[in-house]
Amino acid sequence: MEVLYKSTRSNAAPVRASEAILKGLSEDGGLFVPDHIPALDKSLKELAGMTYQQIAYEVMKLYLTDFTEEELKTCIERAYDIKFDTGEIAPLKEAQGAYYLELFHGSTIAFKDMALSILPHLMITSARKNKIKNEIVILTATSGDTGKAALAGFAGVEGTRIIVFYPKNGVSPIQEKQMVTQKGDNTLVVGIHGNFDDAQTGVKKIFSDKELAAEMDAKGFQFSSANSINIGRLVPQVCYYVYAYAKLLSEGKLTEGEKINVVVPTGNFGNILAAFYAKNMGLPIGKLICASNDNKVLYDFFRTGTYDRNREFVLTSSPSMDILISSNLERLIYRITGEDADRNRELMTALNGQGVYEISDEMREGLKDFYGHYASEAETAAEIRRLYEACGYVMDTHTSVASAVYQKYLAETKDNTKAVIASTASPFKFTRSVMNAIDEKYDAMGDFELVDELSGLAKVNVPNAIEEIRTAPVVHDKQCEVDEMKNTVREFLGL
Ligand SMILES: *Cc1c(COP(=O)(O)O)cnc(C)c1O
Repeated sequence: MEVLYKSTRSNAAPVRASEAILKGLSEDGGLFVPDHIPALDKSLKELAGMTYQQIAYEVMKLYLTDFTEEELKTCIERAYDIKFDTGEIAPLKEAQGAYYLELFHGSTIAFKDMALSILPHLMITSARKNKIKNEIVILTATSGDTGKAALAGFAGVEGTRIIVFYPKNGVSPIQEKQMVTQKGDNTLVVGIHGNFDDAQTGVKKIFSDKELAAEMDAKGFQFSSANSINIGRLVPQVCYYVYAYAKLLSEGKLTEGEKINVVVPTGNFGNILAAFYAKNMGLPIGKLICASNDNKVLYDFFRTGTYDRNREFVLTSSPSMDILISSNLERLIYRITGEDADRNRELMTALNGQGVYEISDEMREGLKDFYGHYASEAETAAEIRRLYEACGYVMDTHTSVASAVYQKYLAETKDNTKAVIASTASPFKFTRSVMNAIDEKYDAMGDFELVDELSGLAKVNVPNAIEEIRTAPVVHDKQCEVDEMKNTVREFLGL
């Protein structure tokens, strides 16, 4: 059955998957959601015998119904190849009774690669299907991880260009080095003199600039978005939950139909929403455990039914979760209003204006599969140390937030359902925080010295992504003021 995509904010006519991918966001500002969540059409046993790529096809074919089998399989083959340092793509590691689903084996060693390695292929296929002749220009503001993953995904992809703006003094040294060493004639990386919000606001402004859009169209360009609200990012993320279940089943760690709980370190709510979709497709998932850091808007929301972003923004050691507006939550809110676009729009308007909204008791009923908690900075560090000392497994700060929250869940509920914890970044990406958590003595060491130390400690080879930037030449050194962003784009496109 065909799946069409409708907006969360209006009753406008739904669009096909390829159109939703090209557009990113609906014109009314809403997010595209599938008009129904398709059910898995293979048994768990059948899935248990499949590779990652085969499962990705079985899941994605149900959502991207206007893609042909050949188109989709080609996209999957190009995405999940030797860019990943393991044929398993997303291996599971058992540590102290929980299963850590390592989503960081792609080219930029964070889980964004799971979706951003396939999005460019989905996008050019969508462009071809919709007879778009223009070159697609991806415009992104990044606080670190998304920028590099999007660059790596789009670099060298014919028919696309990518421009990334990042706050010049607002990303980690490793993150910056990863971006400014990005090769590819179709890439541009620019450090702006401002913070992430400035970058994000600047990008949104350029996106909605109608004059610029017309000028670009005349020259054969059009913008699109690699942002996590694009369904072309959400759908590929559903696959690894199905894969994790299939893998546990094939290894005899589960009996067919046995439930698992899923724990996700959450920022923009994309990753955990994908788990929710997997559950609604029929994957036996019990609780969806949503883990936050000190920016615990979601924890408060699940406890009280009030979403309130009016609070201090805290900088933590898990920066990819430092977020006060979780954009993908809108898809869940829409669903628990009973798919009432008007009601959802009211709530989102309140969030934009007053920064707060409250949901009804009836809507809260729709959240009963979710459990929210958070981990402080001290708890996050202690959890890294605890797991390392207990079994030698070293995880990154984001994963540790999830792991610590899982411990709280266990203590509170005594629910011993097997748990899969989404492990969203390699510890090598956040080496200093990770090593300091294990022992304060490491603070005196240099960045790359720490990398070697971690490699010895964790008995894990230094990932390619890190080896590369040790010696890679800087190829992007462009900087600009916030109000020069548009000109920078024009210049790059030769307008
Ligand atoms: C983006 C990111 C997250 C948050 O994921 P969402 O889908 O935005 O909730 C968590 N950890 C890492 C390492 C990330 O890069």
